[in-house]
Amino acid sequence: MQKNEIYEAQITGMTTEGAGVCRIDGMAVFVPMTAVGDCLRVRIVKVLKSYAFGIVEELLHPSQERVEPDCPVFRQCGGCVFRHVTYEAELQYKEQFVRDAFARIGGLDPEFEPILGDESRCGYRNKAQYPVAEQDGHLVCGFYAKHSHRIIPCTHCKLQPDRFGELLEFLLPVLERCGVTAYDEQKHAGELRHIYIRQGYHSGEMLLCLVVRRSVKKKVAAALGEICSAFPEVVSISESVNPDRTNVILGKQLSVLWGTETIRDTMCGNAVSLSPHSFYQVNTPQAERLYGIGTAYADLHGAETLLDLYCGAGTIGLSMASRIGKLIGVEVIPQAVENARRNAAEAGIRNAEFRCGDAGMIAAQLAEEGIRPDVVILDPPRKGCDKAAIDAVVSMAPSRIVMISCNPATAARDARAFSGYGYTPERVRAVDLFPGTAHVECVVLMSRKK
Ligand code: SAH
Repeated sequence: MQKNEIYEAQITGMTTEGAGVCRIDGMAVFVPMTAVGDCLRVRIVKVLKSYAFGIVEELLHPSQERVEPDCPVFRQCGGCVFRHVTYEAELQYKEQFVRDAFARIGGLDPEFEPILGDESRCGYRNKAQYPVAEQDGHLVCGFYAKHSHRIIPCTHCKLQPDRFGELLEFLLPVLERCGVTAYDEQKHAGELRHIYIRQGYHSGEMLLCLVVRRSVKKKVAAALGEICSAFPEVVSISESVNPDRTNVILGKQLSVLWGTETIRDTMCGNAVSLSPHSFYQVNTPQAERLYGIGTAYADLHGAETLLDLYCGAGTIGLSMASRIGKLIGVEVIPQAVENARRNAAEAGIRNAEFRCGDAGMIAAQLAEEGIRPDVVILDPPRKGCDKAAIDAVVSMAPSRIVMISCNPATAARDARAFSGYGYTPERVRAVDLFPGTAHVECVVLMSRKK
């Protein structure tokens, strides 16, 4: 097989990155923006040892799953991979990702409950960070093109609430009038790097954070009132100065230009306060459903000790706090632990304790102290649980382990490790928190063999 050759093929599968798969001369060829069932002519663009990449040269017979994409920049933007198929098809693909991971990586055969979709599909994100550039003498913002830092201007992203787009369209000319310049990554010059917006789903409160290379405080001072009267839900305007050449968006220091530092919201009925730095699930109502499934799997009766490892700002454990005797949360980032403590205090929760440190180390300490949680919640980052964390959890012999994961591959790997210690995964449910993208969460219930 050679670059630029053209083959006829049919898409028969979907990769976890959201590219269609076809087989040509025994090779797997990955073709983005296709649907299972498509018959097409594929142009080969890159050939590796056992697989290749192609692009659609001509669509001969479109799959039944196809729909007209509802976004004008779908083909350029690196955000969504599924806007050209029905939501039913997207959910099927995602459920299959989870099933395949458990079968192939985990060698496991748990009971699968049907994937829980997010029927809203659009406008579900509560947070957006738009990179800024200057194009044709004007400030523009939008999203990076796939595998690049070229900005595709887009103020009305389908994944964001409409109000975010309205705010951007109001804001860009205002900032231009204030003489704010766009950051130029190549030259490491200019000012405005990103516009960061976050909104409480239940409260409606919004924060606006200007991420800049150097302060624009003086330039924008006179315009703040204008922004807040046009958008009364904006209760916080801040500036984050990030002077470094880096892909990290926020700088270390945050200064409030208007209003409060944080916005308020509720998660599973508990009050939370959010700053630009706080980790927070981007799809609030669907995260609440996800945690609801976790709660059902945890099967709580009122007296349990619950250990919430990788707890972030504590939202999962806190959502269960009224159904248990004691909550212990563990998280490595000190600011997140502070947030968790504050969230507990604001929600009036008194049976919660949070410890800062590595999940494996703290869990081992807890085991040393003789703490024996009845239920352990694990919500690790994409790379999954460390072996030390798994060993420490097993040594505490909880009756149930509920793993919530944003990466089916590591979830399956870790479930396999637990099953080696007598914790058989009983139930798995995929939950779609990120419609349009290839990401999928899953909840896994593991119980100790009697
Ligand atoms: N459960 C939280 C956050 C989950 S994200 C929620 O749903 O909101 C995973 C969390 O694990 C992050 O907050 C990250 O900071 C934390 N983390 C990553 N590595 C860790 C480690 N080795 N020990 C403890 N926490 C860790």
